Order: sequence, then structure tokens, then C-alpha cells
Amino acid sequence: MTPVVALVGRPNVGKSTLFNRLTRTRDALVADFPGLTRDRKYGQAKLGELEFIVVDTGGIDGTEEGIELKMAEQSLLAIEEADVVLFMVDARAGLTAADQAIAEHLRKSHKKVFLVANKTDGIDGDSAVSEFYGLALGEVFQMAAAHGRGVLSLLELALAPHLEELVEAAGGKEEAQEELDEDFDEEALLRMVAAGDLDTKEDTKETPFADLPIKFAIVGRPNVGKSTLTNRMLGEDRVIVYDMPGTTRDSVYIPMERDEQKYVVIDTAGVRRRGKVHETVEKFSVIKTLKAIEDANVCLLVIDARETITDQDLSILGFVLNSGRSVVLVVNKWDGLDQKVKEDVKNELDRRLGFIDFARVHFISALHGSGVGHLFESIQEAYQSATRRTSTAMLTRIMQMAQEDHQPPMVNGRRVKLKYAHAGGYNPPRIVIHGNQLNDLPDSYKRYLINYFRKSLKIMGTPIRVEFQESV
Ligand code: GDP
Ligand code: GDP
Repeated sequence: MTPVVALVGRPNVGKSTLFNRLTRTRDALVADFPGLTRDRKYGQAKLGELEFIVVDTGGIDGTEEGIELKMAEQSLLAIEEADVVLFMVDARAGLTAADQAIAEHLRKSHKKVFLVANKTDGIDGDSAVSEFYGLALGEVFQMAAAHGRGVLSLLELALAPHLEELVEAAGGKEEAQEELDEDFDEEALLRMVAAGDLDTKEDTKETPFADLPIKFAIVGRPNVGKSTLTNRMLGEDRVIVYDMPGTTRDSVYIPMERDEQKYVVIDTAGVRRRGKVHETVEKFSVIKTLKAIEDANVCLLVIDARETITDQDLSILGFVLNSGRSVVLVVNKWDGLDQKVKEDVKNELDRRLGFIDFARVHFISALHGSGVGHLFESIQEAYQSATRRTSTAMLTRIMQMAQEDHQPPMVNGRRVKLKYAHAGGYNPPRIVIHGNQLNDLPDSYKRYLINYFRKSLKIMGTPIRVEFQESV
């Protein structure tokens, strides 16, 4: 479960400033979905191990009449979708009628609200914020978002514990990642390496989760063909009856089996009911998409060949990659296109998505079913790539081969030294490299290492993260 935090408040109180601070910790990608959601911005944030989604609702124009109506379109939706609301007010401007109207609504919504008085820099915070207690939303957190002041105390003392409770209540932590080998004996490994004693035959192991279903999410913009594809993948004969799907923010989880592999389809589109072609159960929701991504092992990003690649496709892809999820690119509506158009689409893909050369690309027609069966092969491959266990010996040997092929550069007359590598986690695979002067390693060499690992381990479909630790 990934909690959703919405930032609401009048324009100019500092919401975007706080949004940027919250998402920066993760190099977050900010997705704008013009046309779909007006000004709402979505970002991924991380507090320690805790991941959450932040929504900036854009401004509520407090000068307008009937504020409750005006805030409806964006902020009401954002509030409804959120688990927690950060309500920002401007400590310098003081309490306004618009603040009161928003507060009134929040009290009625029964959401958990944290009231944040921003811009307390250079003023007497305590006296400036006292009037906001009158909003009856509990404690007033003083903040100067522009300077980072008060942000951490709000996050760490109030928000994080609350979100953790929510996550735990929702079913506990994700399946535990395998513990790192804490007793790892560096000296012994280096001796083995020196003596050429490494058992590289000890190959990679298949995932220990082989009997668990692979969860894959079908994500993409509206109308690209997600629900058509979902129906296809579930199979013709299946009777699909959906009266039950929950709220606007939650996807439907549908178990299925194919070639003895169990899957769970995370359906963000809302499968159409049999016979009722024009009736979709659910509408597109960014939150739903983001949550599905976080919850999936593999994401099928569906793109419409007739529209080629849009910024929204790239935003969704950015979220997938940011979350470290595996991805399979699905170019849909490949039926009935002439050769020239097909070539144009392929060129466009190369140009704009060349940077994720590790993802498999499928050209399919969800409508006619062509190419759909092969998607399962790429889903399995991506899942196995993301969860396979690789021994320290193997990773170290690969790292050494990379080094032999290409020495790391000299820095200040000394050569950067890579000593050994071990797994740091899975899903996505993380590889931790220990050595000396690693801070001096240029990005080009880091990319070279990542590619070397990718090729040697035949990792497809998932990003790989390589981390560096200075040996002492
Ligand atoms: P939004 O419209 O609520 O998203 O507000 P913005 O984040 O765009 O901020 C509005 C203005 O307030 C900008 O000029 C910010 O630089 C300024 N601002 C934001 N946070 C602070 C703060 O902590 N102190 C001061 N003095 N100004 C701030
Ligand atoms: P969603 O909003 O992403 O779930 O998209 P839908 O599955 O509802 O599809 C949107 C429209 O595209 C519908 O009219 C579908 O019939 C059509 N469509 C879906 N897949 C294909 C395809 O492979 N080829 C063609 N030509 N049309 C398709």
C-alpha cells in the first residue's frame, strides 16, 4: 500500500515549494497530466524506507465567490483520493476567509489533516500562527518551506509515523527483502579472487518466489487499449463480471494462470462488462496508476501506435522507472497500419525511448489478439531478471571481468580500485560495489559497469541500481 498525501491551500502559500522539497529526495519526476487533471502534479517521495505519493492540487482561488464550488474540481478530488492532507496556510498573510472555507471542508471530509503555517522565516512564528488554531484542525506546524525549516520535523515527527501506521494497518510491509550477508568476509573473498579460486559455476539462482503469482499492471493513458488488452490477456472464455470494484483510486486485482504460471493482473482501466462495449466501470485516475505501478512486479506500459509517444506516456514511464519496477513496452493498435507509418513509429520509439534499451518492446493488436501471447514471455523474463538471486562470487567475478576489459580511470595519479561486489537487494536488482576512491568514478564508467552486469547476467526488463561503498 502506497499512501497518498495531498497538498491543499490557497495559491501562493508555498505548496509547490513544499512539493519540490518532498519529491527532491528521490530525484522525483514530476508528472503533469494536462487535460486530465488540470494543474494537479504528482510526485513520488520517500522518507527513509517509506514511499508515498504527493499530489500538489494547484491553487484554490480564494477571491472567488462560492469557494466550495470552485475548489471542487481539483482539490476535492485530490482530497478524496488522499490518505492524508497537508493543509498549507500563509503565516505572513494571516488567516483569510478562503482558509476558513477550506478548513470547513476538510473538517467535513474526515481526512487526517496536518495544518502547516508556512513562511515563518523572519517573523515571530508563535504569535503569527496563533490565530490558525481557531481553524480547529489541531496542532499548527510552523514551516519555512523555501528554507527547508520545519519540513523535517513535520515529516519525521508527524507525517511519517502516521503513514507508517496506515501502511501497517493495510497489511504490513511488503515481503521482506532477503537479508544481506552481514558476516561477509571481505579478506577471504579477496584471497579467493587472488588465487583464482572463485567458484563461478555457482550460477545464479532462480527466484525463491517461483510459486508466487507474478503481479503485472497494465498502465497507460486513457484510450490506448488497456481494457481491451486486459480482456485479451484474461482470455476469451472468461466471464467477467465487475460490479464490485472499489473506489476511484483502487485497481481491480484479477488472478489468472497461463502455462502453469500464476499471475495477478492489476487492472487500472476497469474491464468492460461483457456485451456492454461502451460502459467502462472506472475512469482514468493518476493515483490509481501510480498505486498499481508501486504494487506490481512488472508494468506493461501501453502506448497507442496511432498517437506515437506523448509526454504523458513518458511521465508514466518515469514513474515506473522511479519506482524501480520492471517494464514491458506495448505498442498497441498495430493492426491496419501501412509500412511507412510503422517505420515512423519505430523511429519515434528509438528516438524518445532509446534510453530504456533494456525494455522489451511488443507491437500488438489487443483488438485482434495478435502478439498478445508473447507478452507473457517478457513478463516472466522481466520478473525473473528483477528477482533472481546472484551470488557474491558471481557478481565479483563479473565486476573483475569488466575491470579487465576496461580499467577504471586514474584520478590524481591513483587508479580507482574496485574490490568486490555483492547483491544489495532485488526488485529492482541492486548491486553494491566496494572499493577505493569510488567517489572519483566518472558516470561514464558507472554506466559501463551497469551495462556489463546487465549483459553478463542477461537482465532484461528491469532497471539495475549500482551503489558504491568506500572500503575502509
Ligand atoms: P503555491 O502557489 O502554493 O504552490 O506557492 P509557491 O510554492 O509557488 O510559493 C509562492 C511564493 O511564496 C513563492 O514566491 C515562494 O518563493 C514563496 N515562498 C514559499 N515558501 C516560502 C517560505 O517558507 N518563506 C518565504 N518567505 N517565502 C516562501
Ligand atoms: P483504455 O481506455 O486504455 O482502457 O482503452 P480501451 O481498451 O477502452 O480502448 C480504447 C479504444 O481503442 C476502443 O475503441 C478500442 O476498441 C480501441 N482499441 C483497443 N485496442 C485496439 C487495437 O489493438 N487496434 C485498434 N484498431 N483499436 C483498438
